[in-house]
Amino acid sequence: MASRYASIIIDISHENVDRIFQYRIPEHLLTEIRVGSQVCVPFGSGNRTRKGYVVDITEKADYEESRIKEVSGLVEGSVTADSRLIALAWWMKERYGSTMNQALKTVLPVKRRVKARNKQVVQSMVPESLAARPLRLNPWQQKIADSFCEDYDQGKRIPYLIHGITGSGKTEVYMAMIDHVLKKKRQVIVLIPEIALTYQTVMRFYARFGERICVMHSRLSAGERYDQFERARRGDTEIMIGARSALFTPFARLGLIVIDEEHEGAYQSEGAPRYHAREVAQQLARMHEAQLVLGSATPSIEAYSRARAGLYRLFSLKSRANAKSVPAATVIVDLRREMEDGNKSVFSRRLQDLITDRLNRKEQMMLFMNRRGYSSFVSCRSCGKAVKCPHCDVSLTLHNKNRLVCHYCGYTIPLPGACPECGSEYLAGFGVGTQKIEELTAQMFPQARILRMDLDTTSKKGGHEAILAAFARREADILIGTQMIVKGHDFPGVTLVGILAADQSLYAPDFRCAERTFQILVQAIGRAGRGERPGIAVIQTYLPEHYGIQTAAAQDYETFYQREMGYRQLLHYPPASHMLGLQVAGRDEQLAGHMMDLIRDSVMRHFGSCVEVIGPVPAPVYKVNDIYRKILYMKQENYDILIRIRKYVQERWDETEDCRQLTIQYDFS
Ligand code: ADP
Ligand code: ZN
Ligand code: ZN
Repeated sequence: MASRYASIIIDISHENVDRIFQYRIPEHLLTEIRVGSQVCVPFGSGNRTRKGYVVDITEKADYEESRIKEVSGLVEGSVTADSRLIALAWWMKERYGSTMNQALKTVLPVKRRVKARNKQVVQSMVPESLAARPLRLNPWQQKIADSFCEDYDQGKRIPYLIHGITGSGKTEVYMAMIDHVLKKKRQVIVLIPEIALTYQTVMRFYARFGERICVMHSRLSAGERYDQFERARRGDTEIMIGARSALFTPFARLGLIVIDEEHEGAYQSEGAPRYHAREVAQQLARMHEAQLVLGSATPSIEAYSRARAGLYRLFSLKSRANAKSVPAATVIVDLRREMEDGNKSVFSRRLQDLITDRLNRKEQMMLFMNRRGYSSFVSCRSCGKAVKCPHCDVSLTLHNKNRLVCHYCGYTIPLPGACPECGSEYLAGFGVGTQKIEELTAQMFPQARILRMDLDTTSKKGGHEAILAAFARREADILIGTQMIVKGHDFPGVTLVGILAADQSLYAPDFRCAERTFQILVQAIGRAGRGERPGIAVIQTYLPEHYGIQTAAAQDYETFYQREMGYRQLLHYPPASHMLGLQVAGRDEQLAGHMMDLIRDSVMRHFGSCVEVIGPVPAPVYKVNDIYRKILYMKQENYDILIRIRKYVQERWDETEDCRQLTIQYDFS
């Protein structure tokens, strides 16, 4: 039998955890040692016995056979939740190019004492009407649930992707799956993009599973978070529902991970390691032999392409679960036409008519604007310059008509009386935000009762819930807001959705901008006509012929996917290829630029023939908080080559004295 070698991290409390040591696995332990096992090994010159964690097992020795020591033994009951998480951290570090310390901090919660304060009790908010569950699944839902149970019992663990239109009953299907897994005495993690925005979903889980569920709110303190994890570790809870970080719940017998709205940007971590929850979940599921289930009305291009390649099993739900509710009709309005015909208002004539009609019929509406603030920025009518943040490369945003705020660093000043550049007094707001829309709506429809929901009105704890609950109680006719109003809420009274400037997000400097626009439009349209009265969605745009807008209006995911994938293939963007974005940042603009050029040249010399290099280019916002940021993009179909490039660059980086003043970050996609 071939020898096997274990890669081991010694003693994770030690500072230098970025090194691993290779040991031979003795024959009598071959079947027992697994990734995540805790073992005893001889260490250092005195061969003292130390404990370590196995993070990888290979058949290849990295050193000369005679220099490799042998594992001395297995620690009893060794594959614990923590040891699995440590192995997961190692995988994350390798895949996303962070340090082991950063990865460990991500997966192991910091131990903090919980401050004795009133803990929010979410149970009390469960509405009476939710008590009469579970619902009987319809045949399409039942088919998915049956297939799940069969695969689960047979130990087949191919990830599921449920592509189901909004309101098709995905949540009910998840709950049926969870029931099955709980019966097998295993535990469940449910990821949702942002609890505050999906509190209706959380309530339904509570109504169904009661005490067995634990919620990981993004606004919990570190101590409260730790507390929740401890409950899971002790087995006091069986289902953890929460945002991205709930993935790291230390369950001993994890059986199922559900990721709802898998396409959401919130699943991508911003700090190092810049991991994606979908990928980490897949790795975690593999380690636990657990099942992974993804669901979305608008699957990410990544997930859908994997499903088409047979790596995921694809299911679709094409109609609404509530047979009386039908998807909304959609109308595209060309804003250039409106302008030509002399309508300078933010509401097209069609939308004005529909709003009046809904007010008369006492039905509710949502107006969606992808931008908060009063007007987006203020510029000078004489010299044309926008008022910018002195620390960042962005314009300041007007709030409450009298303050300018930087959305990147928080810098704020009172609205100046004159242009800081030329002294002219003709300063005016450009573009419109939610606050301005609220004002314009009130002017045009004085009888309407209006609520506004954006970052400014929801910054207090519970702010979201209060606004959503008031709207649900029909205390307002119109809800105006940013993205956050279109996500996942179920308001049966809403029969009109107005999307005021659909193409705004198409101009974002990101290869995913068409995908994001499509997703947000489909979601927004999905808010209309959830009840028994038919709904209508009005999409106002300057680019009515854009495929993202056309296919969203037609609710035609398949065509969108084909067009989008064609574009990604043409330009070698993910998932057609892999991409590594390497960002260097520092206060010293010249040094950052110089280092970036050296990196590019060096990568070109060593890997030039097999990788497509673009840049370096300034980051979309070049300066933030007085720090300059440059990015080098590298594209390659083979992910392993990008990982090799990352290692190569990091080694050069660590050797270079000047780099101490700069930071480097990797972003794999
Ligand atoms: P999704 O998660 O796909 O948006 P939901 O699970 O929230 O869909 O279901 C949408 C609505 O349809 C909810 O009000 C839900 O209670 C209802 N519903 C779901 N499944 C059924 C069913 N089998 N029978 C009746 N109503 C259902
Ligand atoms: Zn700033
Ligand atoms: Zn000026």
